[in-house]
Amino acid sequence: MSQPPLRKISYYDEFKCRSSECPDNCCHGWVIPLDEDILKRISGEKGLYGFWLRSTVHGKYQKIFSPLSIRCPHLTREGLCGIQKRKGESYIADVCREYPKIRMNYGPLAEYFLDLSCVHAAFLFLHHYDDEELLVQGGDEELPGTYGNNEDRDHFKRLYEHRANMVAELRRACRVSAEELNDSLCAYAGREWRVQNQLLIKGKSDLWESDEAEDIGCDLFPLSIKQINEMMSTCFYEEWLKYSAPFLYKLCRMYYKAFDKLDYEKGAEELKRLFDSYIAVDERMVTLCGEYFVSVILRRYMMSFEDYSPYHHFKDAYLVLNLFGLFYALWYDKNGKPKKIEIARIMAAVEKRFFHNDNALKDVHAAVKAP
Ligand code: SF4
Repeated sequence: MSQPPLRKISYYDEFKCRSSECPDNCCHGWVIPLDEDILKRISGEKGLYGFWLRSTVHGKYQKIFSPLSIRCPHLTREGLCGIQKRKGESYIADVCREYPKIRMNYGPLAEYFLDLSCVHAAFLFLHHYDDEELLVQGGDEELPGTYGNNEDRDHFKRLYEHRANMVAELRRACRVSAEELNDSLCAYAGREWRVQNQLLIKGKSDLWESDEAEDIGCDLFPLSIKQINEMMSTCFYEEWLKYSAPFLYKLCRMYYKAFDKLDYEKGAEELKRLFDSYIAVDERMVTLCGEYFVSVILRRYMMSFEDYSPYHHFKDAYLVLNLFGLFYALWYDKNGKPKKIEIARIMAAVEKRFFHNDNALKDVHAAVKAP
C-alpha cells in the first residue's frame, strides 16, 4: 500500500540539537516517559550499572525518569545524556531520541513539526514564522505508525479544511492589528465551542459548514487579569521551579512582583498598560503572537481527529499564547526589548511547563472558565 503524503513545517530539517551548548537543556523541567523497549533493555542490564539504571525508574503504571520533573538523573555534568554516552543512541528512550520532533501520521496524511518547548526549535520558529508556505512537501522517508485508530476520512477532511481556513484567517488578522487578532480568535472560539458540544454531546457534526460567529462574552488576547491570575494560581507555578526550571521561575516571579499587591481593578489597568505598550503598539509583535497561535494550532488541532474536541485544542493555543504574551511584556518592561534568543527562551519555557507536565495543562484548563 502506498504511503500517505508527508508535509513538514518549513524549518523541520534545519534542526540540530545544541546539546551541551543549549541554554535550557531539555533534560530539566519535565517528567520523562519511558517506552516498553527501553524498559526491557533496562531490566536486562547486568551489574551495578543495571542496578543504578533500575533505581532511577519511577511510576506505578507509566514508568518515568525524573518524577519531580527537576532534572534527568542521567544528565552528565557536561550537559550530555549519560545513557547515550555509555550505551549509544539506539539504547535511549523513544521520547529522548525523537524530541523535539513531532511526527504525526493521521492515516490520510502525515505531518512533521518541531516542539517549541525546545529552545532551539523556538529559535528556528522565530526565523521562519513569516514564511509564506508554512508546510512544505516532505520526501518519501519511512513514516511512524498511525496516530490513534480513527478511520473516518470525512471527519479528517472536514477538520483539515477547517484548520486550513482558520490558519489563513488568523494569519491575515495578525497582520492587521491586535484588535483584529482578538476578534478573529473570539469568532473562532465561539464556533469551536458549539461544534465540539454538538460532536460530543449530540454526536452530530453538521455545524462544521456554518460560518456563524457567536459572541463569547470576553476577550481572548489578552485574557482578563482575573483569568491570568487563575492560570498563575495553578500548579503552573510552583516554588520548586527554582530548581527545575529557573528561567521560568524568574518569569513567574516577575508576574507576582508586578501584580501581587494590586486588586483586580488596578491589575486590569497594569495588564492593559503592559499589553498596549509592548504588544499592541508593535506590528511585528502582533504578527508574531498570531503566528505563534497558528503554530500551536498546526501542532495540536488535528488531535481532535481522534478525540472530537476541537475547542479543547483551540483553548490550549490561546492559553499558552496569553502566558507567552504576558511574560514577553513583563520581560520588556523590566529588562528592555528582549533579544531573539530571549524570546525563544520565554516561548520554550512556557511550552515545556504547559504541555509537558500533565498536571499543569489540566489545572490551567480547569481554572480558566472561558468562554
Ligand atoms: S532543548 Fe533542544 S537544543 Fe536544547 S538540548 Fe534539548 S533538544 Fe537539544
